[in-house]
Amino acid sequence: MGDIMATDKQEFNFDLTILGGGPAGLSAGIYGARGEVSTAIIDISMLGGQPTNYLEIENYPAYAMSGGYELMEKFEEHADKFNVKKFPMENVLSVNLKDKIIETEDKIFKSKAMILCTGAKARKLNIPGEKEFAGRGVSYCAVCDGAFFKNKVICVIGGGNSAIEEAIYLTKFASKVYIIHRRDELRADKIIQQRAFKNPQIEFVYNSIPLEIVGENTVTSIIIKNVKTNQVKEIKTSGVFPYIGFSANNELFNGEVEQDANGFIVTNEKMETSVKGVYAAGDVRTTPLRQVITAASDGAVAATYAIKYLEELE
Ligand code: NAP
Repeated sequence: MGDIMATDKQEFNFDLTILGGGPAGLSAGIYGARGEVSTAIIDISMLGGQPTNYLEIENYPAYAMSGGYELMEKFEEHADKFNVKKFPMENVLSVNLKDKIIETEDKIFKSKAMILCTGAKARKLNIPGEKEFAGRGVSYCAVCDGAFFKNKVICVIGGGNSAIEEAIYLTKFASKVYIIHRRDELRADKIIQQRAFKNPQIEFVYNSIPLEIVGENTVTSIIIKNVKTNQVKEIKTSGVFPYIGFSANNELFNGEVEQDANGFIVTNEKMETSVKGVYAAGDVRTTPLRQVITAASDGAVAATYAIKYLEELE
């Protein structure tokens, strides 16, 4: 019979723990703490989430134009005002939804209710060369890496808002930006499309999918195929920025909670998940729109119903 190992991990007890500190998590934190339940946000990196990588956000009401980082700083300051306990940069090892326990390398968080706000991450192309050249020409963050491509040619993959907005941003650095899209019609909002159409540094390559990213030390070209004609061609490029949507950050609780076919968490309108006392908010859940405002709204709803749940427990 093995000895029972005593854990030297520090134990914390809260009414409500929130996993993930992006717009959804910070909003949930504000609503939770303001509702006078002890509330903690635990994140594997710094708080702020995906918007901290966005150069500009121009559709968050009351901020006609804001830097993503600056907007999220305001969210965090607001959470601080209500004394939300923050645990950034935690190496989360496991999440037990049923018992509401989050275990990190050196801490154990126990709570009565939990909100999952782990967000989403850039979807991969899954083609040869993508992994090999990640960080050596392949990038998923124009704001982080755009400046490395001064006077170079860049290819952006995708036709949604992210692809088009980031392609426009990249023209600040690149001499030319190709937007490679698998159809002949863009998915992006018309206003964003119009800006790209007017930009002389952008060239659209329609009906085309990438087959392979080629290079030596760094990327030198991309091989694409026209899906209508089957013609294969090579475009000389120094950078490839795939912006083909997002997938849920669900690795810590995959299969423990009801998810849709794409892995996003299914909730009802109160943000309740299939596990009692566990809520989900923001990009990680099945939702028709993934924006800062919808994530913040989800967080507010989730925390409000988590508080009701806690009251009923008493
Ligand atoms: P998205 O809207 O899902 O667009 C993904 C794009 O990638 C689509 O054009 C899609 O083509 C293409 N695509 C998907 N899989 C592909 C593959 N395997 N190979 C090649 N192309 C592929 O994703 P997003 O642009 O990242 O936007 C995500 C959400 O954030 C959306 O709700 C968007 O409105 C929002 N967003 C908003 C703003 C803003 O309002 N300023 C900015 C950024 C993002 P198809 O069109 O053929 O499906």
